[in-house]
Amino acid sequence: MAKRDYYEVLEVARNASEAEIKKAYRRLAMKHHPDRNPDDSAAEEQFKEAKEAYEVLSDERKRAAYDQFGHAGVDPSAAAAGGAAGGGNFGDIFGDIFGDIFGGAAGGRAGGSRVHRGADLRYNMELDLEEAVHGTTTKVRIPTLVACSVCEGSGAKKGTSATTCTTCGGHGQVRMQQGFFSLQQTCPKCRGAGKIIANPCGTCHGHGRVQEQKTLSVKIPAGVDNGDRIRLTGEGEAGESGGPPGDLYVHIHVREHAIFTREDNHLMCEVPISFVTATLGGELEVPTLGGQVVLKIPAETQSGKMFRLRGKGVKSVRGGDVGDLLCRVVVETPVKLTRQQKDLLIEFEKSMKEDSAIKHSPRSSSWLDGVKKFFDAMKF
Ligand SMILES: [Zn+2]
Ligand SMILES: [Zn+2]
Repeated sequence: MAKRDYYEVLEVARNASEAEIKKAYRRLAMKHHPDRNPDDSAAEEQFKEAKEAYEVLSDERKRAAYDQFGHAGVDPSAAAAGGAAGGGNFGDIFGDIFGDIFGGAAGGRAGGSRVHRGADLRYNMELDLEEAVHGTTTKVRIPTLVACSVCEGSGAKKGTSATTCTTCGGHGQVRMQQGFFSLQQTCPKCRGAGKIIANPCGTCHGHGRVQEQKTLSVKIPAGVDNGDRIRLTGEGEAGESGGPPGDLYVHIHVREHAIFTREDNHLMCEVPISFVTATLGGELEVPTLGGQVVLKIPAETQSGKMFRLRGKGVKSVRGGDVGDLLCRVVVETPVKLTRQQKDLLIEFEKSMKEDSAIKHSPRSSSWLDGVKKFFDAMKF
């Protein structure tokens, strides 16, 4: 498949300003980001395509080369290096572009050798509904790579230090002249690091990072819901050879609750009531996440009726109004009656019939009307 034109990919004019290019990219990246389109390979392709286009067009030098020579003018391996370095992680983009949304950018990419940012981590956290609604602070243990304490992340043996790679002069990239074009390639000697470690640290074997169980205290803000995620900037894996760390994403999973189900900011629950309370009316204590409240049941309440307790739901972590608590009352059939209780009911039934039962049973009467109409129509 032929490569699409970068301007076409970003849907901008060829004379688009830097700001327009950034804006276009931000829009596409948000739309196609893999986190928003899980298991959608088409979206992922579009995301990668936009990322590549942006990496070329946002770089003055690369853009000029692209304008003059097209795709041949920009080294595709250099353009894709961002994606390749992390083995298909989108972390660095997240830091650059989404940093302002989630708070705390991961730091820009300086010129010279490429710093290898640590990978982002994901932690699945199970919470009770109460914890999600009220917020909580909880400790998590995560296996991760942390900066080696012996060499302080440099990877070089104590007392020595890494030297600048002489092949690439510390840039991590080498230029190759090929006919017209000057192509950039990852330096084969230092493999892009820009530095050579002559005496590697014995503890981390020159990687600057070691495997460790890290315990973190995570503050869960009140009002989070299933599927929300919290970003902890810089709590991901340590970067390679002293590079900046990745981020930790805590994904929220709310356990099923015995009484309540949550829908947006509303809580739902089902409340059983006796047929006597339903008939005569009364007061019920119903639970809310803030304690018991009294629910007034009017006389002649039918089973299935929904009562709304305003403001007894959830306040979303994103702000806005507090939701409501919706209580659906269900009339419960009494069980295990004594002989005497049964006799009372038979007595009661008799008195209803004498008094024309239909008058006391609005549902049955409308149902019987329906049945009658049905039989009439069928001409039985
Ligand atoms: Zn070390
Ligand atoms: Zn080198």
